[in-house]
Amino acid sequence: MSQVVSKVRTAKLELYRKQGKIHAKAVDGRFNRLRWLMVWLTQGIFYGLCWLPWEVSGQLRQAVLFDIAHEKLYLFGLVLWPQDALLLALVLLIAATGLFLVTALAGRLFCGFACPQTVYTSIFTWIESRIEGDHLARLQLDKGPWTAQKLLRKGSKHLIWLAVAGWTAITFVGYFTPIRELLPSLPGWKVGPWEGFWLIFYAAFTYVQAGLAREAVCQHMCPYSRFQGVMFDPATRSVSYDQERGEPRRAGSNDKSGDCIDCGICVQVCPTGIDIRDGLQYECINCGLCIDACDQVMARTGRPTGLIRFATEAKATVVWLRRPRVLSYALLLLVFVTLGAWVLSQRSPLRVDILRDRNVLFRETADGRIENAYQLQVMNLTETAQYYEVQLDGDSPFELVGRPAITVAAGSLAPLPVTLSADAAALPRGSHPVAFRVLSGDRRIREASTFQMP
Ligand code: SF4
Ligand code: SF4
Repeated sequence: MSQVVSKVRTAKLELYRKQGKIHAKAVDGRFNRLRWLMVWLTQGIFYGLCWLPWEVSGQLRQAVLFDIAHEKLYLFGLVLWPQDALLLALVLLIAATGLFLVTALAGRLFCGFACPQTVYTSIFTWIESRIEGDHLARLQLDKGPWTAQKLLRKGSKHLIWLAVAGWTAITFVGYFTPIRELLPSLPGWKVGPWEGFWLIFYAAFTYVQAGLAREAVCQHMCPYSRFQGVMFDPATRSVSYDQERGEPRRAGSNDKSGDCIDCGICVQVCPTGIDIRDGLQYECINCGLCIDACDQVMARTGRPTGLIRFATEAKATVVWLRRPRVLSYALLLLVFVTLGAWVLSQRSPLRVDILRDRNVLFRETADGRIENAYQLQVMNLTETAQYYEVQLDGDSPFELVGRPAITVAAGSLAPLPVTLSADAAALPRGSHPVAFRVLSGDRRIREASTFQMP
C-alpha cells in the first residue's frame, strides 16, 4: 500500500515526466558558455533594473516602474499613459515579430538561451549540483534510502530554491510597487492584498516551474513549442545529427563504420533527456549542449567536430537568408520598428481635448457680440507642473475673452474654460472653423474646433 502511495506521490512530483527525473551531465563548451552568458545578462537586468533610480526635476524615482494604480509606465525619462497604448502594442508586435524571425532563421534559439524557464532551470539545477553533486551523485542520492545526510542535502536544496524563488517574486512585484517601499513592508507582512497575492503566487510558480517541473514545462505545458513548427521551413537551422557521417555507429575500431561511437554523452547532457540522433523532436530546445558534448568526443577520437551541429534540413542549395518567410518577418519587423520610432517622435507631453456645451451653442452679449464657450481638457504628461496659455491660431475674426491660462500639476488633467467672441455683423450664420494654440515654454499644440453664429 505504502509503495502505491509513494508511486502516486512520485508521479505527481514528476509532473507527467515519463522517464523519471532527468539529471543532466554538466558539459563545458561554447554553447554552454553562451547559455550562462545569457543567464548573467538577463538576470543582471531583471534583478538589477528595479533598483536603478532616475532623477526627474531634482527628485529620484524608480527608473522602470509599472504604476498600475495611477495608470502610468515609467521607463527611464519616459512616462507612458493609457493614451500611449499604440506604442505599447507596437513594442509587443516588434517583440513577437523578432521572435518569429529568429525562429525562422535558427529554430528554438529563444527557448535554449533566453526563455525564463530555461534560465531559471539552469540556475536551480546549478544550485542542485552544488549541494547534491554531479549527475551520477544526484541519481544515486535519489535512488538511495532516506538518511540524515540525504535529508540535509535535499532540505538545504529546497530551502535555497525557496529563497531564490522568494527573491525573484519580490523583484517581480518590485516592478509594480517601488521596490524600496516594498522591501521594508515585508518583515511585518504589511503589503497590500494584490502585492501579497503576487508575492506568494510568483514565488510558488518559480519554485515549481524551475525546481520541480523543469523540462516538463517545455515538453508538456509551453504552447510555443507546439506552434513554432509553422515558422520552420527546410532552411531553418536547428541542432541536428549528421546521419550520413555518424552511421553506422562505431563499436571498437572498425574503420568502415561512421563517426558516432555511441557513447551516449549527447543524451546524458541533454536537459530534456532526448536523443538528437533520432531526428528533430519538438522537445529539443536548441540549447546546443549536445553539440558541446559531441565536439569533445570527436576531438578525443581524432575526428572532425560538427557531427552534431546547427544545420538546415535542406542542404546548401537553399540560400539561408533569401527565403520568403524570413524576408516577410524581416520586412514586418522593419515596418513595426519604423512605425514605433515615428509614433515615439510624434508623441507630445501635452494633450488637449476641446469640449463644447451642446445645449448652449452661443449667447448674445449686451453689447451685441456673439460668444461661444469651450472647455479645454489640458493633460500634462510631464513629471513637473506646467503653466499653459491659450491663444488663437492664425488670423482670426474672433477674440479671446480674457487671457485663459492654467497651471496643471505633473501627470494630471485639468479643465480650462475658454470663451470666444465675435462681432454679430462680421460673420454669416452657421458654423465657422477656429483653432486654438496651447503653449508652454517652447511646447505648443494646435486644436481645431468651430464657432457657431446665430
Ligand atoms: S556524443 Fe557524438 S559520438 Fe557520442 S553518441 Fe552522441 S553523437 Fe555519437
Ligand atoms: S537535443 Fe541537444 S540541443 Fe536539443 S535540447 Fe537536447 S541537448 Fe539541447
